[in-house]
Amino acid sequence: MEQIVDLHCHSIFSDGVLTPEELYKRAIAAGVKVFSLTDHDSIAGMDRLYLANSDSNILVVGGIEFSVRWKKYNIHILGLNIDVANLNLVAMIKTQKERRIARAKKISGLLENCGLENGYAKAYKLAQHDNIGRVHFAKLLISEGIVADMQSAFKYYLGENKKAFVPTSWITLAEAISVIQDAGGNAVIAHPLKYKLTRTKLFELIEDFKLAGGEALEVVSGDMEIKDIQMLAKICMRFDLLASSGSDFHGDKMSKVLIGRQKLLPEICTPIWHKWSFN
Ligand code: AMP
Ligand code: MN
Ligand code: MN
Ligand code: MN
Repeated sequence: MEQIVDLHCHSIFSDGVLTPEELYKRAIAAGVKVFSLTDHDSIAGMDRLYLANSDSNILVVGGIEFSVRWKKYNIHILGLNIDVANLNLVAMIKTQKERRIARAKKISGLLENCGLENGYAKAYKLAQHDNIGRVHFAKLLISEGIVADMQSAFKYYLGENKKAFVPTSWITLAEAISVIQDAGGNAVIAHPLKYKLTRTKLFELIEDFKLAGGEALEVVSGDMEIKDIQMLAKICMRFDLLASSGSDFHGDKMSKVLIGRQKLLPEICTPIWHKWSFN
């Protein structure tokens, strides 16, 4: 029997709504046996997650979801089973954070032209930390009555090439993979079908990812159709990659799939967590 796992979710330390302790409780209640917290470009919630871990039946591993630039695309790379005390990792996160803050200030400037004043200060207040993301601006646009919902916020303002979109020079694919490996972890391409790449481009990404030391595809990620899961499983076989699985849970209102409730990995996949120790 396949184990219940969740290797992708977000806390209040990025754009999620639950604390690490609340996520941990949800994971235990859902019967999750291998768990990670993967905040965007942040490991700030990991200490609290480790402290909350009082159950010897669950393996909690260090995690992060890096925003990465590959060619002209923004790709998300998960670092799993990382040592969150690794100094190179900490330095890389600092670089990302500076870029994120600079981006947030630029987004705020663009939103000023759309009738939203003091966007940066308001987003900071809403997030209660400086790891500000587009979801915080989306929530702001909703609370200010500029858009009705999250989808519209991205469709008209924050999505790629929309009114308040700011291209960002995130770290490269190779930099992300290299620092994940330096921290003893495994690099995974998050939600490979979300980038809307052609098959040729997706294969190019996978080739580059593998060459740089990447090890797995997130075959099951949040709400997915079985046919897409099977397609990704086959791509794993073709490229000799391991498979990962996660809910990408952000909060009850924001996510269709709750912690640990994503579909199971196809039998043909080799789960990435089989590499990790269980004692
Ligand atoms: P950021 O890392 O700040 O660029 O924000 C990326 C996050 O925005 C993703 O992880 C999602 O949580 C959210 N997001 C991206 N696109 C959409 C969308 N179309 N609708 C709702 N949320 C989105
Ligand atoms: Mn997010
Ligand atoms: Mn993502
Ligand atoms: Mn995510």
